[in-house]
Amino acid sequence: MKELSDYLLAIRTAGSPPGPPGVKTVDVTPEDDTGDITAAAIAGLRRSGLTPADFRSRAIFMAPDDPICLVPYAMLCGFAGRRIDAYAGDTVMEFSRLDPQGHAFPDAGRPSGHLMWAQAGGPNTPDAVGMPTVRLAPGTPRLATPETVTVIRYAARLRMVPPPATRDVLAMFLLIAAIRRRSDDRFAYLSTGTEPAPVIKDDPTQGIDLEKIRRAAVDHRRQQRAARRSAEVVDRVPVSAHEQRIAQANRADIAQVLTRLGSTADPAGRWHCPRPIRHANNDGNPSLILYGDNRVRCQRCDTEKIGPVRLIIDALGLTPDEAAALIADSTRTLGPRVV
Ligand SMILES: [Zn+2]
Repeated sequence: MKELSDYLLAIRTAGSPPGPPGVKTVDVTPEDDTGDITAAAIAGLRRSGLTPADFRSRAIFMAPDDPICLVPYAMLCGFAGRRIDAYAGDTVMEFSRLDPQGHAFPDAGRPSGHLMWAQAGGPNTPDAVGMPTVRLAPGTPRLATPETVTVIRYAARLRMVPPPATRDVLAMFLLIAAIRRRSDDRFAYLSTGTEPAPVIKDDPTQGIDLEKIRRAAVDHRRQQRAARRSAEVVDRVPVSAHEQRIAQANRADIAQVLTRLGSTADPAGRWHCPRPIRHANNDGNPSLILYGDNRVRCQRCDTEKIGPVRLIIDALGLTPDEAAALIADSTRTLGPRVV
């Protein structure tokens, strides 16, 4: 059994318990001003500065005591490309160790007709209007009957009614995702308790579409990777106009870029990181070293030396082209980044 202190990264959202002492803690609270729950969640992820590489170390989600915690949790699983351990009800839940396959659960065969919508919940979940309802007993997933597995596996869309305890919410969510898995886990809709009978497959009134959030996080990961690759274009002969702009921007003096980002150097020549939000004390003790090849590396934020474009991309959450344009326009201030 793992304990909280075994983790190297704790991820919080609104209402989460505090991260364990001494463990790097990052906040992905959704930004609430967009009206679009998926966009708000991804905006919170972007602001957190998390990268896929952060999930190579032992990471744990600090779950607040509310079923809405499935929104950031689904996003983090999509972004990491795997199930993430969670802390709920004073317990570490090692979901990342679960067998990824769900086909261990036998079903009773495909349903005879097309099943558009179904609902799954705990033992006390009432029947839904316009769709079959199946019930799972918390804590005993192996007791799912073949008839229940058939409904969960083959329904085109599944709405999950969360049980009362957050631990059971997370366990049921992942059990359903595993049973529905194809090449990836497939996430359910989260019921908010006010849904009418559904009439269409992608019905926006059927609660919160957690699969849509998962996919948006997968897309965000791809965009981050593409941005990093694109920003690497500095050492070889650039061919496209795009690459020329990036290469030109990478020749900008990195100390000036740091200054424009609001960073300052201490007398020993170490710089305060322009991504203070990722540092426990806003990088009060400078962590960033400037190298002679016009690159920098922050001991906390960077796994390798990076140049001006990647620094701007990472600090301000921009695309490579946006970063290059900002560097080229010396009249525009770049920061400092709002903490
Ligand atoms: Zn840093």
